[in-house]
Amino acid sequence: MWISDVFSTLFPAICLGCGRTGAPLCVACTERTTRPNKMDRAGVRVRCAGRYAGTLRRAILAYKRGRRDVGDVLAQIVVAAGADFAPAGAIVVPVPTVASRRRVRGFDQSARLARACGDAFGLPVLLALQPIARDAQRGRDRATRLRARGRFRCAAPDLVAGTRVVLVDDVVTTGATLRDCAATLRACGARVEHAIVIAYA
Ligand SMILES: [Zn+2]
Repeated sequence: MWISDVFSTLFPAICLGCGRTGAPLCVACTERTTRPNKMDRAGVRVRCAGRYAGTLRRAILAYKRGRRDVGDVLAQIVVAAGADFAPAGAIVVPVPTVASRRRVRGFDQSARLARACGDAFGLPVLLALQPIARDAQRGRDRATRLRARGRFRCAAPDLVAGTRVVLVDDVVTTGATLRDCAATLRACGARVEHAIVIAYA
């Protein structure tokens, strides 16, 4: 038994939406808060589970602060949003969490979401993207720092060449991050036309 299981037995989760005891996000609140959506962002077709607001936003923030039990529910939500969407034979690549935040929290949220998608859709998951450390960006001018591809590098160019990639992330806003990730992977020869996210802001 995991320590988190012991913990949840002793202190059953309280729903982030309605406050009822039992689950970190109860079924009723999950249904109320999710409304699957399609959109295009920077040449990538995006499927998302709902709007970044209210209960869904609270759940994502709780997950970012380290609530893995909430992450399990969000993983189910993102899998439901992406059902029948990822093309056969694709690989799933998480949009990386910024390294400093990941260290603080001790785990990488989008990698966990990507693994849930990979398991559910029978697709391999590849942690192909890495954020470029801020140190490496110091000294460059602002325009260069902000330029699309500067923020990520491909950790496995040989493995992504010739593949179709499905990106997975928690929140999409302007799509700038998806665009950067897609550009990095495309530069390595991947096709990037799909992304699955929890919420759009
Ligand atoms: Zn609830």
